[in-house]
Amino acid sequence: MVGAAIAYELSLCPQVQVTVVDRSVPARGSTAAALGVAMAVISHKVKGRNWKLRERSLHRYQTLIPELEALTGQTIQRNTQGILSLCFESDDLPRWRSLQEIRQGQGYQLKLWEPEQVRDRCPHLSTDRVAAGIYSPQDFQVNPKELTQALVAAARLNGVEFRFDQSVVGFEQAEPVGEDAFCTAVHTASQTIAADRVIIAAGLGTLPLTQALNQPTAVGPVLGQALRLHLDAPLGKPEFQPVVNGHDIHLVPLGSGDYWVGATVEFPPETSLEEALAMQPEAERLEDVQQGAIAYCPALATGTITHRWSGLRPRPQGQAAPVIKPLVGYSNIWLATGHYRNGVLLAPATALAVRDLLL
Ligand SMILES: Cc1cc2nc3c(=O)[nH]c(=O)nc-3n(C[C@H](O)[C@H](O)[C@H](O)COP(=O)(O)OP(=O)(O)OC[C@H]3O[C@@H](n4cnc5c(N)ncnc54)[C@H](O)[C@@H]3O)c2cc1C
Repeated sequence: MVGAAIAYELSLCPQVQVTVVDRSVPARGSTAAALGVAMAVISHKVKGRNWKLRERSLHRYQTLIPELEALTGQTIQRNTQGILSLCFESDDLPRWRSLQEIRQGQGYQLKLWEPEQVRDRCPHLSTDRVAAGIYSPQDFQVNPKELTQALVAAARLNGVEFRFDQSVVGFEQAEPVGEDAFCTAVHTASQTIAADRVIIAAGLGTLPLTQALNQPTAVGPVLGQALRLHLDAPLGKPEFQPVVNGHDIHLVPLGSGDYWVGATVEFPPETSLEEALAMQPEAERLEDVQQGAIAYCPALATGTITHRWSGLRPRPQGQAAPVIKPLVGYSNIWLATGHYRNGVLLAPATALAVRDLLL
């Protein structure tokens, strides 16, 4: 998702010629597992880099999706009915009120609903333990695979060259001029691709690539599991189907009685990266998430699970997510990685940030 977003954004710059090398095919990796929930306005980040990235993505998304659909003719499934977050602790209400005030000042809406208002709008939700509902109409959800595929298709139409199923295995460097080294080419097992700018958007592949450049940048996995449920009829009111979040568990309506529920957040034991990457999902953790969703949406208990999956989120170690910056010691390599839990949300802003850094 991140690499595809960067490729597309750069494809809009006439002076730039882009080649993407990926060891897999589009929308695998972490992106394949994501639910695509984009929490910008409803997040508690209100200033600094993280908020600026969220806000920039929120704005870019408004034009990006219609732009991609028009260019490619592909439809990108999304839910634009907002995000409703259930607050179970009345002690948390002052924090939400303060966020509401800040967002208002920033030009965004955030609504605080009494439990009766939540029940009225979403009769499928149990409000027994709910202190309030926080409704963010400007936040949304988008299908990560469809979006990534559309980004790739659009970038290709704009002249980007994609080389899939090819691992980057090394780099070629020129003699350093001054303090910084300069990368002149990227090696795959069978090819050498000349380059005068290199962007590493490799998620969990970041450490070996940066080790090859003698600047190890650790990005480790945090496992996430999710499931898809089918119900005979959609829940609640057909005209109001927002994404719901309770206790950090998302319920994502997909239409036709289908829902995604997720996700677990499972940290690996303190081991090597290889062992962490091999970690296996624990069935009970997914069961807990399912039960957590049923607790706030009881009708989910009647659903049939049609799919279960897991993925590994790329989490930077020793620095904040995401990592978008020049690689130390090089004048022409940039990192755009470690998006951890928000890569779908932050991919468009990352692409703009990389474009700004490059150009
Ligand atoms: C269960 C789950 C739910 C999630 N839900 C959300 C959500 O609701 N909202 C949200 O914003 N985010 C969510 N995320 C997080 C999101 O999936 C990630 O932050 C995002 O996908 C990261 O994108 P990426 O492109 O950096 O990484 P990836 O999708 O992992 O892509 C990295 C790419 O690099 C390639 N690569 C690596 N090494 C090499 C190499 N040596 N040579 C060539 N290619 C290489 C890989 O093949 C891969 O294609 C979720 C994640 C999980 C697991």
